[in-house]
Amino acid sequence: MNSNTQGTSICVYLGARAGQGPQWADAARTAGRTIAEQGHTLVYGGGRLGLMGILADAALDAGGRVIGVIPESMVEREQAHTGIHENHIVADMHARKLKLTQLADAFLVLPGGFGTLDELFEAITWRQLDIHHKRIGLWSVDDYYAELWSFLHKGRDLGFMPSPTFDAMSIDTDLDRLLEQIL
Ligand code: AMP
Repeated sequence: MNSNTQGTSICVYLGARAGQGPQWADAARTAGRTIAEQGHTLVYGGGRLGLMGILADAALDAGGRVIGVIPESMVEREQAHTGIHENHIVADMHARKLKLTQLADAFLVLPGGFGTLDELFEAITWRQLDIHHKRIGLWSVDDYYAELWSFLHKGRDLGFMPSPTFDAMSIDTDLDRLLEQIL
């Protein structure tokens, strides 16, 4: 547990864009609400824009504690959220990911694009390097991560990706089941 978080802290990574169809925004809303209802702290990128804002507002609406970490250069671009409990403004993207990692007890990754994949792989590689020992959950809404997951299996089976690192990751299409696996 972290000093300025309550209960277990979950760092959520997700796309900045809304994606096609309503299911991605619904997932962001469900994730925020579920984290709050389970008494966990939501730790996230600190923006109000797009899915990030939906996630944070859903957690706040459900009475949850929300902590953001946003780079100075993104305060305007991602519309830093002013209604959350703490929003740390840090120097750059690297400092953001480091701070998010320090605050989190586990990572939950929702569908997203390049930025989300960068964050996912940094969480995995830092675990591989023993920089942290937290679990990483991929919420495969609508099977979004199915092909990535099968590619990762190929990498493991061919000896490129070590099993202990692999085992730190879970994937599920069901959020409640996934949270049980990573917490
Ligand atoms: P995306 O998944 O591309 O929609 O990006 C989601 C969020 O990831 C962005 O809003 C950024 O705040 C964050 N992000 C983290 N690392 C990067 C990166 N290397 N490039 C772009 N965005 C990043």
